Formats: sequence, C-alpha cells, structure tokens
Amino acid sequence: MACFAKIHGDVCTKHNFIRVVPMKAALLSILLAGLVVLSCNKPEPVVEAKDFAMGTVITQKIYGANSKAAAAEAISKIRELEKILSFYLADSDISLLNNSAGRGKVRLHPETFFLLTKSSEYAHLSGGEFNIMVGPLVKRWKVTAESPDVPSPAEIKSLLTLIDYRDLHLYKDDCSARLARKGQMVDLGGIAKGYAGDEVIKIYGKHGIKSAIVDIGGNICVLGLNTDGTPWNVGIQDPRRKRGIYIGSVSLSDKAVSTSGAYERFFPAGGKKYHHIIDPRTGYPSESDLLSVTIIADSSLDTDALSTTIFILGLDKGIKLIKKIKGTEAVLIKNDGAIYATEGLQKNFNCSAEVIYR
Ligand code: FAD
Ligand code: MG
Repeated sequence: MACFAKIHGDVCTKHNFIRVVPMKAALLSILLAGLVVLSCNKPEPVVEAKDFAMGTVITQKIYGANSKAAAAEAISKIRELEKILSFYLADSDISLLNNSAGRGKVRLHPETFFLLTKSSEYAHLSGGEFNIMVGPLVKRWKVTAESPDVPSPAEIKSLLTLIDYRDLHLYKDDCSARLARKGQMVDLGGIAKGYAGDEVIKIYGKHGIKSAIVDIGGNICVLGLNTDGTPWNVGIQDPRRKRGIYIGSVSLSDKAVSTSGAYERFFPAGGKKYHHIIDPRTGYPSESDLLSVTIIADSSLDTDALSTTIFILGLDKGIKLIKKIKGTEAVLIKNDGAIYATEGLQKNFNCSAEVIYR
C-alpha cells in the first residue's frame, strides 16, 4: 500500500490587485507580496527516506526544521525494536521466549512485555482469531521462503495442538513471560510494525515536526496536515490489480491506517494461493470472504492488530467488531470485488466505484 503525498508545491499566488487599489494600499500589498514570495523562496525542509527493516520497506516523508534528525532517530528506533521483537533473529526477546517454551519464565524488555500484553487483549477481544501463538504454523508455512510447500493435514493437526493463546503467561511484577508447552511460539508479525508506527510519530513530535507521513510495510501514520494545509490522502491498494493501483483514498490527519490482505505475501501451489494470515482454528491460511481490510484509527498498534483480526473474521463479524470500537473505521474489499466501508468514512473516503456503507 502506498500513499499520495499531495504536495502542490506553490502555495504563493501572484497578486494582481495593484492595478485596482489606491496607492498606499498598493504599496502595502507589494510589501506583503514580497514577504510571501520571500517565504516561498525558503520552502520547508523535507526529508524523504526509504529503508528496509522488519522484513519490509519503510518510507518516511517529513517536513520541518528537524526532519533529518527525526528521520534518523525514527529508523534507528525501528531497528532497535526489530532486535527485540523479531521472530527471525536468534537473540531477540521473542526468540528467547520461544526457545524457553515449556521450561520457565523469561525476563523481557518492557516494550516486548507491552506488546505481548496488547496481543493477549486482542486475542480475547477477537475470540482467539488474533493469536500470536500461531508461531509454529507461521514457521512451518514459511510463506515467504524460497521454496515453500504445503504441509500435510497430519502436520497441521499436530501443530494445531500447540496453538492456544491462554498458554502465554504474563508476569507484570517482574516483566517476564512464559509459554506453557515445549514447541509453542509467539510471533508479533501482525502487531509490531503498528507499534513501531506509534513510536515513530512520538519521535516526530519530540523533534517539533508538524507534518509527516511514515509507511512501515502497509502500516501508515500521518501527522498533521500536508504542507498545503489539506489532509493527507492515503491510497488503498486495489487487491486485484498490480501494486500502486488504488481503489480510492482516505483523507486524514493525525491517524493510522493499516491494511491486511492476501495479495502480497503468498505462494501458489496446486492452483491455490497460500497466504500468510493464518486461521488459528484450521491451521491454514484464512479463507474468509475478504480480499483486504484497511483499518483507520488513532493508534497504529490498534489498526495493525485489527486489520489482521478483521481479515480473518470476514465481512459481517468484522464490521460488527469495528462498530464496537470507538473511533475506528474500516474499508473492506470482498472476494467478489465489492467495496464496503463503515459509515464514519462517508465524508473522507474518495472512491469512484460504488461503496456500500454499513
Ligand atoms: P498483517 O496482517 O499485519 O500480519 C500478518 C502476520 O501476522 C503474519 O505474517 C504472521 O506473522 C502473523 N499472523 C498470522 N496469522 C496470525 C493470527 N491469526 N493472529 C496474529 N498474528 C498472525 N519477515 C521476513 O520475511 N524476514 C524478517 O526478517 C522479518 N523480520 C520481522 C521483524 C519484526 C519485528 C516484524 C514485526 C516482522 C518481521 N517480518 C519479517 C515479518 C514481515 O514483515 C511480516 O510479513 C509482516 O509483519 C506481515 O505484516 P502485514 O502487515 O503484511 O500483515
Ligand atoms: Mg496487522
């Protein structure tokens, strides 16, 4: 998913009123116009950065005096988070916890503990559909590996016995956690990039940045307004067409937007597409009636966890859940291409196709 940075560049308008106003006013106008032109000659500094971390591309566009420092601090924070939260790095907190499954408690970094706690909350909220304990299945499916294969039904059946979110035990007093049984694993792939987005926005604020957009592999956060004073336009990928073709866009400021879909991380086998969002009840890639889900809310952690959850829940249950969570909106694209959106988006979802608001 990408974003439209609506930079119209020239915010100055040429003044032609000198001809029609009296002399004194004309002089004042010339002075004022001069000031405006001066300020236009000094456009706000902008930094555009593209990096790779957390197995994905990260892009930042930041306006303001400290944009360079803010961009650098943001990417270094993302890399720090990756070191502790990655399922793929041998010495991350998550790997330490996974490797100690069935053996005992592991002391964790407060941010790891926080994310495990939030994940647990989402597991309860979604009735176990959002379930970071899918780690053993994620590892077996290895959807983005060079030569993935479809596990046998027996393998899936055996791995499913390990998937139970109630087996993640959290101990707030000493910031530790424990996985009850050997072989169990947590994977924060459905929530940690969102958390990183929230942290990046905090960093921008610390540097006095008033206008910025960051995209962490489909988890987008927009800060303030665009430089022309209009909201940011965040494009929503058409899941049936190639990357960069949008079904529409949402106009937003100070919001997070996350999209989950089956169209980017998958492998084909036997005429089927096997994607990366696992239904914890079946052990197979989720087969709901949705092609993609975009969630819009204040916190990127929430939009990330919810986009994954709603994708698995499907249209009806998904909309029902969204309606229960205040300040959260969604755009959902069904398998047949029909576009649904929550009623709160009626004013800021720009889409030329028919949209069914619910
Ligand atoms: P989302 O819908 O947001 O999340 C889907 C992901 O959540 C799945 O890929 C899986 O990880 C997990 N998941 C699947 N089913 C469920 C479920 N039912 N409940 C909860 N979670 C579920 N990828 C690499 O290939 N190499 C790396 O080195 C690498 N490092 C990473 C480090 C970090 C800290 C993080 C957060 C991710 C990393 N990734 C890596 C993963 C990669 O970026 C994921 O594919 C990505 O997180 C998926 O995000 P998404 O927004 O596409 O999908
Ligand atoms: Mg997610």
